[in-house]
Amino acid sequence: MARIYNHLKGIPELPDTPNIKKKRPKMIAVVDEDNCTGCQACVPFCPVDCIESVAKDKYDFPAIPPVQVRFDECTGCQVCARVCTKMTWDAIRMLNTDIFEANYDLTIS
Ligand code: SF4
Ligand code: SF4
Repeated sequence: MARIYNHLKGIPELPDTPNIKKKRPKMIAVVDEDNCTGCQACVPFCPVDCIESVAKDKYDFPAIPPVQVRFDECTGCQVCARVCTKMTWDAIRMLNTDIFEANYDLTIS
């Protein structure tokens, strides 16, 4: 039991109600859609509820679409990355916001 507890350390309780972002984050969560199983384990843990399924018409395969992050709402809290790595897979990368903006040609406020 202690081993399970230690493994899940860093994963908070599920949030009761979604919060909203208050300042420009230092990091942004990026889902590797080719690696994501679409299990949605990360979705309810996001404190600002900004993880959603990719539209089904974007993929013919797999039948269960991966998830994506609404980047402008992400607070960079890293909870989703911990959940994915510790509870399911390893499909979320945290990118430094400056690097994210340069890579994706987006501006995060
Ligand atoms: S927990 Fe990981 S594998 Fe599951 S939906 Fe989220 S990003 Fe994808
Ligand atoms: S890091 Fe993940 S859990 Fe945290 S706000 Fe961004 S998408 Fe949500």
